[in-house]
Amino acid sequence: LAKGMNSEYANLNAYDSIQVHGGSGSMLEYACQRLYRDARITSIYEGTTQLQTVAALPHITTGTYSQMLEELEAGEVAAEYESLKARAKAMDAKFNEAIEVGKAANNNEFTALCSRHLYELAANCVMSQLLLRDATKAPELFEKSMKVYLNLAEAEVAKHYNFVKSVDVEAMESYRKA
Ligand SMILES: Cc1cc2nc3c(=O)[nH]c(=O)nc-3n(C[C@H](O)[C@H](O)[C@H](O)COP(=O)(O)OP(=O)(O)OC[C@H]3O[C@@H](n4cnc5c(N)ncnc54)[C@H](O)[C@@H]3O)c2cc1C
Repeated sequence: LAKGMNSEYANLNAYDSIQVHGGSGSMLEYACQRLYRDARITSIYEGTTQLQTVAALPHITTGTYSQMLEELEAGEVAAEYESLKARAKAMDAKFNEAIEVGKAANNNEFTALCSRHLYELAANCVMSQLLLRDATKAPELFEKSMKVYLNLAEAEVAKHYNFVKSVDVEAMESYRKA
């Protein structure tokens, strides 16, 4: 889960680093063009993101990550983070609901189509809980990252949850090659 997530974020960050530098960012004289090229291979070698997803899927559907989230949810957070914790718990509930939708569909093509969405749901939920835990232990290091990340993760969770909930098993034909 971590490898797939980190390498995809490395790509996003390298993309943004070029963007903030404008046209100069893409020139050889700037380090960010090198970071951009270097980041691109990280989601391919040592297991592509798609194969990381294939490897993680059994753990997602059999409850390994749900169990991990339950354990993280049971941990104490600082009193001022309780409302953030409630938001993170609501995200976990969406993740668990999406897993059940996949199981109920009982269709391999549907599972394959939703696998990356389930993977992203798991990654966002686990990371949010870990950051809440870390910010409780060391707010000076993690509080800002936790707050920024949780906002983003909540939006990501909503997006992936909506996909899994709204994709129609009957309409799988639309995803097949013409
Ligand atoms: C710079 C560099 C360094 C490398 N170093 C090493 C090294 O030190 N040791 C080593 O062993 N290898 C190394 N590799 C090879 C690397 O591990 C492979 O490139 C990588 O595993 C992807 O395999 P592939 O290129 O054959 O792509 P393919 O397996 O042909 O995959 C092509 C695309 O199909 C997708 N895909 C394939 N199968 C599935 C599936 N079942 N479900 C969904 N999608 C799928 C992949 O995600 C990918 O997007 C290196 C490669 C590069 C470019």
